[in-house]
Amino acid sequence: MTRKRDPKAKFSCPYCRSSDTVWRGYRYNEKTKKRMRLCNSCGRKFTPDSMFFRMRFHPDEIKRALELRKKGFSLAEARLRLQREGVRVSRWTISLWEKRYGKKFSQK
Ligand SMILES: [Zn+2]
Repeated sequence: MTRKRDPKAKFSCPYCRSSDTVWRGYRYNEKTKKRMRLCNSCGRKFTPDSMFFRMRFHPDEIKRALELRKKGFSLAEARLRLQREGVRVSRWTISLWEKRYGKKFSQK
């Protein structure tokens, strides 16, 4: 089964993953202004270009990836398993999670 990448996914809500979002106003920085999108499902606002990549994955998915790694799966194997569970993630991302969240999730 191959799933085509939804072109609208880029604009889907990083909080609830709804794709029901609309352009709504701007967020101003010192030098730049960024367009904001409003999520019609949960009512939160986000800037697609900055938050999308950071908030794309659910903590449970990150936890699951780290669990697989702890069980001894290689990055490639862990990636494949996640893919079967419907989580599209790169090996690079998994290794990033390990660096960033590895300690946090191993403390129990
Ligand atoms: Zn939302």
